[in-house]
Amino acid sequence: MCGIVGFVGTRNAAPILLEGLKRLEYRGYDSAGIAVDHRGVISISKVSGRIEKLCELTDGGKTMPGFAGIAHTRWATHGAPTDVNAHPHMSCDGRFSVVHNGIIENYMELRDELMGNGYLFRSQTDTEVIVHLIEMYYDGNFKAAVMKATSRLEGSYALGVLCSDEPGKIIAVKEASPLILGIGIGENFFASDVTALVAYTRNVLYLNDGELAELTPENITVYDCTGTPVPKTASRVTWDIEAAEKGGYEHFMLKEIMEQPRAVKAALTPRIQENRICLDEFRMTPGELRGIRKIVITACGSAYYAGCAGKYAIEKLCHIPVDVQLASELRYSEPQIDSSTLLIVLSQSGETADTIAAMKECQSLGAKVLAIVNVVGSTIAKLADYTLYMWAGPEIAVATTKGYTTQLSILYLFAVYAAEALGLLSEKEYQRLIGELQALPQKIQQVFDMNGILPRLASKYNTARSIFYIGRNTDYAAALEGALKMKEISYLHAEAYAAGELKHGTIALIDEGQPVVALCCNDRIAEKTMNNILEVKARGAQVLALAVKGNRTVLTQADDVIYIPGTDSLFQTVVEIIPLQLLAYYVAKENGCDIDKPKNLAKAVTVE
Ligand code: GLU
Repeated sequence: MCGIVGFVGTRNAAPILLEGLKRLEYRGYDSAGIAVDHRGVISISKVSGRIEKLCELTDGGKTMPGFAGIAHTRWATHGAPTDVNAHPHMSCDGRFSVVHNGIIENYMELRDELMGNGYLFRSQTDTEVIVHLIEMYYDGNFKAAVMKATSRLEGSYALGVLCSDEPGKIIAVKEASPLILGIGIGENFFASDVTALVAYTRNVLYLNDGELAELTPENITVYDCTGTPVPKTASRVTWDIEAAEKGGYEHFMLKEIMEQPRAVKAALTPRIQENRICLDEFRMTPGELRGIRKIVITACGSAYYAGCAGKYAIEKLCHIPVDVQLASELRYSEPQIDSSTLLIVLSQSGETADTIAAMKECQSLGAKVLAIVNVVGSTIAKLADYTLYMWAGPEIAVATTKGYTTQLSILYLFAVYAAEALGLLSEKEYQRLIGELQALPQKIQQVFDMNGILPRLASKYNTARSIFYIGRNTDYAAALEGALKMKEISYLHAEAYAAGELKHGTIALIDEGQPVVALCCNDRIAEKTMNNILEVKARGAQVLALAVKGNRTVLTQADDVIYIPGTDSLFQTVVEIIPLQLLAYYVAKENGCDIDKPKNLAKAVTVE
C-alpha cells in the first residue's frame, strides 16, 4: 500500500533505492528497508520509523554495495510496525528476498501449510508467506518459482523479488496494487509510481494485473500469467510529480474516494472464508457474547457517524441495544457501563485523544473494548481487548472517505458475525447477508458508473448559503456524514436533519430556493421521506433526491435525482455515502477550496 522500488544496473543500487523511497514518502509509511545483492549474497537493512534512520544505518547506502536491489516503505496491515516486520523478507535459505505492497488474503492457510513443511517464520506479516513459497517452488528456475508462488496468492500485491543465484536480475509482479517499470540506459527500474523514477528516467512501461516482469540492466521482458511474453510499448511520462503522487487524480480525496471499492473489499473479503465470517481477532466466545447486555459505540467526527449507521444493523440483527456516543461527551458523562457492556471504539488513526480517554474511562468501569482502527500498532489498537483493522491503506486527505466506509463495513461484518454466533440467524439468512456484504464493493463501483452527472449538479448547488440533508433511519445516518463532508471541505453550512423532525422547528428555515438533499434509499421508510420532500417543495425548496435505481416516483417530486444501486437497507449507508462524498468534493472544487487540507482541520486529532 505504500511504496516499493527496484533497481538493476551497473552502479550501486542502494543510494538510488533510498532516493526512490524518499520520493514515495508522501504515500505514508511506518517502516522502511532495502535488500541488495552483492556478487550472489543478499544483505538486508530495515528499520521501523523514518527513511532517514535507514539512511543513517546504511551510511546513505554506502555500506551496502551491489548492482541490484529492492526497497520498501511499509504501512503495516498485518503485524505491528517493528523492525522484524519491516520488509524486505528473506527465505530460510537466504536465496530470496521479497518486498510487497498490498494484502495477502489467504496468508493464514498458506502459513499453516508452509510451517507444516518446516519453513520458519520470523515476522507476523502476511508477506512472509510469499518468500517461503518461492523457496518451496524453486528448482533452479527463478521466474517459474515466482509464478508458481503468485498463483497461490489471493489478494493484492505489487512484489519485487531478488534471487542470489541470478545477481543481475530482479523480478516484479503486479496484482491489484500499483507498479510501473522504468527504462534507463544500461539500467532498469520498478516502482509504485513515477515519482520514484523521474530523477532517472521518464520512459516507462505499464504492467497490467497478473503480469510479471524480468529486469536485467539491458532488458525488460514482461510475461502474462501463463508465462507467455507480452509485447509492451514504452510511454513517456509527461505528468508533473504532484499529479503522479495522486495517481493522476487532482486531489488525494478524489483518489481515495475512487479507491473505495478496493478498500472495502480488502476490509471484508479476507474475513469471509468458505462462506463464513471469521473474526479471528475478536476472541469473544459465544458464551461471553451472550453475556453482553449493551453495546456502546464511541468515536468522534465521521467515525461517530459510522457508529450511528452501524447501530441500525447491530440492533436489528443482534437484538442488543446500541448506544452511540461522542467520545468527547462520553468521557465527561457518568456512563452506565459495566462488565456486561461491550464498548466499540472507532478511529482511523487510532490516536484520537478524546476516544482514547473515553475508552480508558469505560475500561475502568469493566467494559471490554473492541477497536476498529486503520493504523496498526496505534495507541487504541494497543489498549483495546480486541482490534479489527480496517485495512484501508493510508488515508492522506484530511476529510475521511475510505476510512469511513471501511469502518462501517466492519461494523456490518461484526453485526452479522455476532448475530450468527448468538444463534439469531437461519443459515439461509446468514448466507444471504454474507452475499450482500460481498456485493458492496461492486455496488460502490456502480455508483461511480451511474453518476457522471455529479460535477454538473455541483455547479448548480455550489452557490447555496446552506444545504439541508434529510433522511430517516439509515438514510439519516448517511445524511449526517454527507453534511459533514460538505462542511469540512466546501465550508458551506450544511445540516443533517431526521426528516420526520423537520416540522418540529427547522422547516421554518425553508424558503424559496433553499437546497435540500433528500435521502430516500431505505425501502422501508423511503415513502415517508417522499412526503417530507413534498412538504419542503411546497415551501419553495430545491430538492436533490438520492434514491435507489428503479424509484420513478421520486422523479416527479424532486428537481434532481441521483440514483444508487439497491442493497439490503441495513447495509445501504456505505453505498449511499459515495455520491454525497462526490457532491461535497465537486462543490468544493467548484468553489476553489483547498480540498485535501481544509482550513482549521487536522488528520489525527491528538488533542482534547
Ligand atoms: N501487508 C503487508 C504488511 O503488513 C504489506 C503492507 C504494505 O503494503 O506496506 O507487511
